[in-house]
Amino acid sequence: MRPQRKNPILRTPRINLPPGARGRVALGLTAAAAEGRFELQACEDCGAVQYPPREACSRCLSAALRWRRQGGEGRLLTSTTLRHSNDAFFRERLPWRIGVVQLDVGPSVIVHLHGRVGEPPARVRVGARLDRSGQAVLIGLPEQEIVNMTDDPGLREMNSDPKFRKVLVTDGKTAIGQAIAKAMVDAGAERVWLGVAEPWKKLPGFDRITALPQVSPVPLDLSDGRSVEELAGEIGGKVDIVVNDAEVHRTFGIASRRGTDAARAEMDINYFGALRLAQAFGPALKARAADGVAHATAWVNLLSIYALSNFPSHGTFSASKAAAFSLAQCLRAEMRPAGIRVLNVFPGPMDDEWNQNLPPPKLGAAALAAAIVRALQDGVEDVYPGEVAQEWLERWRENPKVLERELSAPGD
Ligand SMILES: [Zn+2]
Repeated sequence: MRPQRKNPILRTPRINLPPGARGRVALGLTAAAAEGRFELQACEDCGAVQYPPREACSRCLSAALRWRRQGGEGRLLTSTTLRHSNDAFFRERLPWRIGVVQLDVGPSVIVHLHGRVGEPPARVRVGARLDRSGQAVLIGLPEQEIVNMTDDPGLREMNSDPKFRKVLVTDGKTAIGQAIAKAMVDAGAERVWLGVAEPWKKLPGFDRITALPQVSPVPLDLSDGRSVEELAGEIGGKVDIVVNDAEVHRTFGIASRRGTDAARAEMDINYFGALRLAQAFGPALKARAADGVAHATAWVNLLSIYALSNFPSHGTFSASKAAAFSLAQCLRAEMRPAGIRVLNVFPGPMDDEWNQNLPPPKLGAAALAAAIVRALQDGVEDVYPGEVAQEWLERWRENPKVLERELSAPGD
């Protein structure tokens, strides 16, 4: 159901976050959940899967533990509904249902329960999600995916579903920006503001997307601090999700072009533009993280898989995205205490004019937009859309030095 409008006279309360302290070893659970996976420690010596995370295997004391992806299937043994809590976050959200699940792989875990999970004994699927404090928690979900699954109030606390929310997409000039706006509307967003730096220009596709009743064009030029501040003054107090898709992309390395103009333009939008946007829109977003059911919730940065390792034929673009990535990590650290999730998106080569010389597979605008919406619905922090991004990520994780060497010698 659509949430009721907030009484504008009421003050927005300060957000209370769920307990966020975790030991170092437990951060493995959080690291996997940040990318949408449920992982538990498995012993390399005896094969035991264990929970909670520990330094050594609870069965054979081996220290050879590896985080391994789990399906999460299990049986709900018992459940209870909390009607009292000493923790401010849960006290505001009572009643809250929790249960004990015996996982098919062995250990028993305590989980938050999705509202559609029946009484025990019942088959459930356990997943790991990031809660409002950005730490992994376990949730027991219905075994099969159901319609409007993410509408559950408990689950909605852990994700950033665009449904019923107001979204700013910073650049509507590109097919990507237009696809993101469309995907947000399709996902149930109440309002989408679509930024356009040069409103007097006729842009392909722009009229069609702004004809949707939920979509309104707004003037926004990320290279101009005053333009960013003016828009923040106008709509900053209403935006629930910021999607910064504005980017400048030129294809050259260092030697193939003289001067710094193009590289400067890339930095000015990809890095300084992101900084201007965060300075102008960040404070209001943080202040509204507890603003009713459709509270402010997420910040999305369109980065690039080239942010991880420089792709020399797109050398200065890669450098600007690496700078933006570093800035995004700072933004995440500053947003986390306010309960706002920062989602970093690392697509592989897009199917656009700047990647014409690259071989397929390339990522289409609609596929990228769908990946962003899905990531918001799942409440993850990092997403790598497209086959190329997935493959590069794999290689980068395995050995960053090998990937650097491979990218610097294409075709070898
Ligand atoms: Zn063991």
